[in-house]
Amino acid sequence: MDKTRLRGIIIIITAFLVVAVSFKWFSSVTTGLEVYPSPYLTEKKMLSDYNPNLAGTPGDTEVLVFVGEEPGGTLLVVGGSHGDEAAGPVTALLLAENAKVTHGRLIVIPFANRSGYTHTLPQEAHPSTYVIPTPRGDRVIKFGSRLTNPIHQWPDPTVYVQQVDGQKLAGTEARNLNRAFPGSADGHLTSRVAWAILELIRTENVDVAIDLHESSPEYPVNNAIVAHDRAMEMAVFASLDLYFEGVEIGIEPSPLGLRGLSHREWGDNSDVYAFLLESANAAQGRLRGKTDAELVVSGKDPMYVKSHERGRLYVRYPDHGIPLVERVARHTTTIQALANTFSEFYPDRRIFVDNIPSYAEMTAAGLGSYLAPTAH
Ligand SMILES: [Zn+2]
Repeated sequence: MDKTRLRGIIIIITAFLVVAVSFKWFSSVTTGLEVYPSPYLTEKKMLSDYNPNLAGTPGDTEVLVFVGEEPGGTLLVVGGSHGDEAAGPVTALLLAENAKVTHGRLIVIPFANRSGYTHTLPQEAHPSTYVIPTPRGDRVIKFGSRLTNPIHQWPDPTVYVQQVDGQKLAGTEARNLNRAFPGSADGHLTSRVAWAILELIRTENVDVAIDLHESSPEYPVNNAIVAHDRAMEMAVFASLDLYFEGVEIGIEPSPLGLRGLSHREWGDNSDVYAFLLESANAAQGRLRGKTDAELVVSGKDPMYVKSHERGRLYVRYPDHGIPLVERVARHTTTIQALANTFSEFYPDRRIFVDNIPSYAEMTAAGLGSYLAPTAH
């Protein structure tokens, strides 16, 4: 055999091995996106049921529907719009894995931008998964990126022109689900996902829609309910209820000039009362030190303790940090407070979700008491 032929064979074998290894790695990236719904699940749908152009794409994702025995209104909870904000999907999972709806309906989307969970942001040292121990074994959950995977939506434009008012944003923001609303049925992948969520809100006649987020501890909007104009009064009443429960939460109006965001476009393009919740996540912050799976769960970073001591933060950042369990408990309690307030405003469309732990129960028992372990 001459040298050229041998070299050719070696190159082909090497290429085959590279493809095989990459394929194995790519197939493993969905680990950590499992949902184990409570026995009271009524129906499992897909987001593509609301936009057929999503079917078979990496943007399609699970939609879990829980219908109560008594009629009432509909509550939508969306986690995972931004894959690096862990309290969102974990709150959505906790609801989906425990909820027993008695009045009305609960619809949960745990991983709204599913494509964002197939990669992490470059140069952030983010882990690909994090672990929540449960009494029956570990629950492994995927950590993702703020943006849709560029493999699924490429190339980015030089400038992203937001569809509503033509506001110009960085090209990468074309892959940010929370700048893509109202979206379009046959636009780019992120835009299709946005459109499908809004179509769900419209066709399912959702009364209250809550988009779960987190932000860095140095960001001014934290521990807050961002409310659409029509939803403001409801947010005020809910925050008072929370205050008496010992959960301090601020209220921020959805800015009129900031287009493409859930709390603005959901409210403007449907009759829903739209809210976005923020909690403080050290793993996202610019001031953080060592970044690993432990930081996502513990929320404890010595740099933030120092920053807080020097008055540089907008949130109280205690020595023990702001652990995931506190952030999830905050989101969960706020969701319940908003549902209760809606039910007081509209008693004939009452929404009641039972079997959800209170803030005190969750922080005492830990998240693992309310989540299923990852099935092997
Ligand atoms: Zn976010």
